[in-house]
Amino acid sequence: MDKYIVYGDLNCPFCYALQEQLAKCDLLNQVDWRLIEHAPDIGVYGRNAESQAELAGEVFIVRSRAPQVQLALPPIRSDSRFAILCIIAAMELDDAKARQLRHNLYRSLWIEGLDIANTAVIYDCITDAGLPGELNIEERHEEMLAHWQSEWEHGDFALRIPVVAAPDGRRMLGLAPPEQLLSFFGGAEVEASPESMDSCRHIDRQTICLLTGRDTDKVWPLIAALRDDFNILLPASAMELKQLLNGSEAPDLVLLDSSEQWQTTLELCHDLSQQQLDHNTPLALVGEDISESQEVAVYDAGAADYFTTHRAPAVLRARVRTLLQLKRSHDLLERAARIDGLTQVYNRREFERTLEVEWRRGQRSKRSLSLILLDIDHFKQYNDHYGHLTGDGCLRTVAQTIKSSVRRVQDMACRYGGEEFAVILPETDIYGASQLGEKIRRQIAELQIKHDGLKPGATLTISIGIACMNPADVDSPHLLIEAADQAMYQAKADGRNRVVSAD
Ligand code: GH3
Ligand code: MG
Ligand code: MG
Repeated sequence: MDKYIVYGDLNCPFCYALQEQLAKCDLLNQVDWRLIEHAPDIGVYGRNAESQAELAGEVFIVRSRAPQVQLALPPIRSDSRFAILCIIAAMELDDAKARQLRHNLYRSLWIEGLDIANTAVIYDCITDAGLPGELNIEERHEEMLAHWQSEWEHGDFALRIPVVAAPDGRRMLGLAPPEQLLSFFGGAEVEASPESMDSCRHIDRQTICLLTGRDTDKVWPLIAALRDDFNILLPASAMELKQLLNGSEAPDLVLLDSSEQWQTTLELCHDLSQQQLDHNTPLALVGEDISESQEVAVYDAGAADYFTTHRAPAVLRARVRTLLQLKRSHDLLERAARIDGLTQVYNRREFERTLEVEWRRGQRSKRSLSLILLDIDHFKQYNDHYGHLTGDGCLRTVAQTIKSSVRRVQDMACRYGGEEFAVILPETDIYGASQLGEKIRRQIAELQIKHDGLKPGATLTISIGIACMNPADVDSPHLLIEAADQAMYQAKADGRNRVVSAD
């Protein structure tokens, strides 16, 4: 019988929980488990505070979705590459022992909190699985991993893990609850959208753009030093480089080869650093040995570093990493300024900014703009009964449910304050907004979150106010907020758990 294929990583708590659930349901023997890396450069940034906060958020979701799975927040998200390669090498020796090794590694990280990038930890897992201590990692093992990685990346899985692919083409994205898992393995089609299933997203390798006037073989040592750890782009001209920088997938670092055209490269560097002041992409020059005064000119032109190409590959990699780490921190800070830390939806500041922008756009297009305001019912009693920490968890669940109900790219869900949320719906009339409001209300009610603080057996509900205006006819978006707010208070007054639209 053909097996089900799972694509997953060792350092993803959703994948770990999937393995545990499959083991509990006695389904693991039906599965061919293909390990991939969903965060290839984790070693570079895995230890920073933002990464840790993200990990804590994932552990929290897994705990609420799979409460029966034993799970502790590890101190860091380990780099999984070497551990995966060891499992692949073990598969050649003994399939059952390789499965045991995978199981040991998962548990070392997610129960004991050990760093599975640490060779001593891996060694213990290997010997505990009854495998010989010295597993040799060969090129073919790396090729196997690259092959699985490519299958997953091109497999139309929205770059999510875990995914389960059935032999008959059915697929399931994310960590489903046990009942769904069983029915999927029983042959049922499981309605699994990546937005509604909890899963890890692929964290991309960072991209380096190298502009050089020389033949590729002349700069090959530089490319060879970097290509394993980063994506490398080679634009054919300065023009093409500028297009890349202005595109939606701008590179994370630009290297300009100055070895043949010193002055032109300096000017280009100056030009680029001026042009992209609001970008965080660092620029660095590469070339032969230069004098100190030349090096000063490099920094004056706006470059962050100068690399001499004949340095050892390890030195180049280390310096490139430092620049990329800085870039990643900038990006994360920028994101943190827009996202509410607790609920991971946009914050109030971003709400105000977006509403202003959409209002002006609406004035030009003369199309209506809708606003949904949502407030959790009797949330004070919820906190009083269950405590603030559980209250926080509930806020996250509500926020994620709202976010996953909102499907158009231009729609925006955010935390308006406390236990209130808002959804901005550009180019949407009151009927469309009411439909979405009702869908969100229903989805929250269907979560059946217990609210015994209210009365035994009660579940959590929300009240929703909706308003729609044509910005061309109204002076300020604050009138829209006021109208939605009044509608929401009407929903409260009418008995809560309902949607009210402003006239
Ligand atoms: P109503 O149905 O009228 O909206 O009643 P309510 O209790 O939800 O309204 P009220 O505005 O009196 O209380 C809101 C509560 O939301 C107060 C506070 O305990 C809780 N809250 C606000 N922000 C947070 C938060 O970040 N975390 C937690 N856990 N609770 C919060
Ligand atoms: Mg409130
Ligand atoms: Mg409330």
